[in-house]
Amino acid sequence: MTDKQPEEKQVPLYELLEDVPEDFRIGFKDNDNWSAGVTWHPIGVMCHQAAAKLRRLHEVNAELVEALQGCLVMLERANCSTGYCCCGMRVDTHGFGDGHSPVDEGDYHQSNAVERASAAIAKATGEQQ
Ligand SMILES: [Zn+2]
Repeated sequence: MTDKQPEEKQVPLYELLEDVPEDFRIGFKDNDNWSAGVTWHPIGVMCHQAAAKLRRLHEVNAELVEALQGCLVMLERANCSTGYCCCGMRVDTHGFGDGHSPVDEGDYHQSNAVERASAAIAKATGEQQ
C-alpha cells in the first residue's frame, strides 16, 4: 500500500483539509511530567483556515495564469522598438566603433518580459518545477 494517490484520483489538499472535523483538537503535554497539564490546539479550525487560504490561492493562481497568457499573446505581437540602443545611442547611427552591437532597448525589455511571463506560466501550471 502506498500513501500516494493515483494522479487522476488526487484530491486537492484544501479538500482534504476541509474534511478534518472543525472541532478536532490535539493535546500536547506541557512537559515530560505526566502530572503537568495539557495544551489543546484547535487543529480543526486551523485546517479549515488553511483550506480557505489554499482554495483562494488556487483560484487566484488560475485567474492570474489566464490573464498573463492573454497579456503574453499581446506582448509577443506588440512592436516595442524604441530606436534607441540600451546604451542610449540611436540604433540607426550606432557604429562598430561604439564598442558593441546595437540592442534596441524596447526589444530587449520585451524579450525579457516574454521570457519571464512564459516561465511564470509554466511554473504556475506545473509544466516546470
Ligand atoms: Zn549601444
